Amino acid sequence: MPIESYNPHTGRVLRRFSAFSWAKTERILGQAHHAAASWQATSFAHRAKVLRAAAALLRERQHDLARLMALEMGKPVADGRAEVLKCATCCEYYAEHAEGFLADEIIKTDARRSFISYQPLGVVLAVMPWNFPLWQVVRFAAPALMAGNVGLLKHASNVPQCALALEKIFHDAGLPPACFRTLLIGSDLVEKLLTDDRVRAATLTGSEGAGAAVAAIAGAQIKKTVLELGGSDAFIVLADADIALAAKTAAQSRMINSGQSCIAAKRFIVEKPVLKDFINQLKTHLLALRPGDPLEESTQYGPLARPDLADELTQQVADSVAQGAKVELFGGQAKPGTALFRPVILSNVKPGQRAYAEEFFGPVALVLEAKNADDAVRLANDSRFGLGAAVWTADAQKGEAMARQLESGAVFVNGLVKSSSELPFGGVKKSGYGRELSYLGIREFVNQKSIWIG
Ligand code: NDP
Repeated sequence: MPIESYNPHTGRVLRRFSAFSWAKTERILGQAHHAAASWQATSFAHRAKVLRAAAALLRERQHDLARLMALEMGKPVADGRAEVLKCATCCEYYAEHAEGFLADEIIKTDARRSFISYQPLGVVLAVMPWNFPLWQVVRFAAPALMAGNVGLLKHASNVPQCALALEKIFHDAGLPPACFRTLLIGSDLVEKLLTDDRVRAATLTGSEGAGAAVAAIAGAQIKKTVLELGGSDAFIVLADADIALAAKTAAQSRMINSGQSCIAAKRFIVEKPVLKDFINQLKTHLLALRPGDPLEESTQYGPLARPDLADELTQQVADSVAQGAKVELFGGQAKPGTALFRPVILSNVKPGQRAYAEEFFGPVALVLEAKNADDAVRLANDSRFGLGAAVWTADAQKGEAMARQLESGAVFVNGLVKSSSELPFGGVKKSGYGRELSYLGIREFVNQKSIWIG
């Protein structure tokens, strides 16, 4: 893919970048490796000061950053500002808590004293996607830098300016430049980086294919990876639920980032007695949303990030309908090759359809009918993915019991599935492995060293 900023709303290329050569990439890697030794020798207090300064700069530059995201990948500016503020909060969270999360942990053994010591690994490579161009990076970078690691970012090829803006924020905040660098490279150089001994670990957020490719190379090199991949999150609605609130939240969840979020609700699994009512209310909420220019304050959803993503979604919908899914709300693309995609609702989603098996990365709500709560859990778990899930019921105990049965990295009962700095985030099955955020996230890229003193 060319490294370029392409405005999906206007269809215009804004800026092209030449990809770094391997010689340049290798030089930056060498500098990062060298910088890792001095960065890990700094105190937590020093690192926290840098992260707090980065948070302040994020807040200060929120309007420019939101504009950049709107231009490069179509995120409405109001959502963009919220993303920037979330990044700032995450930097502050790890500035505050990293030292405690990585403090020596005394363990009683036959030793006079024994404990676990958490020590940084060195250079960590981050391969990141375009859907939350800042948040996906910061939720890796904030804990990694606080732990004493350094980061190299290979961002998605369609958001180079976001990648450079974030690099500048860390540098302006006082981070030694070599400790966090954006590499303007295609995915072809990722293998060369992963096979270099100076890269100690990697994290990837993106598609299953990209995750499998990176994990295979890293695995052959005996390198740790964290993978945050796709999801087809179940949103279960039982007959006793507050249907009005469930439908409103369903629309909100499905339309996060114009439908392009790994933890957006995608499969709505609804008990039969409330199925029609739920679909009608969901339709009303989706129809009320205003599409438009992502630069306008009033826009509630923008185009998809690239026209090819909209073309692919159209094909998934068409194939599913041919396989028996029923169209309840017809939106979609105005014509092939355009990025705006209006919401679609498909019901009668059954095994054998693409809608049953695949992730739909855009504003398409897939509705499945459940006979009862057990059937709902069975349908939810009959998926290759396992990232997030939601259960809506008036019976909190039942909701909790179902939450325990669901095969996913997170379950929200009567709430919108979202990520936050405090709770671990990640998946099971084809949604990936490892955790980001919380104290678990910062412990992914450290040597969990046992020290035994006799
Ligand atoms: P990709 O997974 O292809 O891109 C994510 C990142 O991985 C990008 O930086 C990309 O670089 C890089 N990459 C891709 N292939 C490789 C490879 N073989 N080796 C190393 N790096 C690689 O996402 P797409 O943009 O193609 O989106 C396609 C689908 O991915 C979506 O429809 C959705 O299902 C899923 N997705 C999931 C996301 C999530 O949050 N879990 C986020 C984005 C997408 P480059 O841009 O240069 O190709």
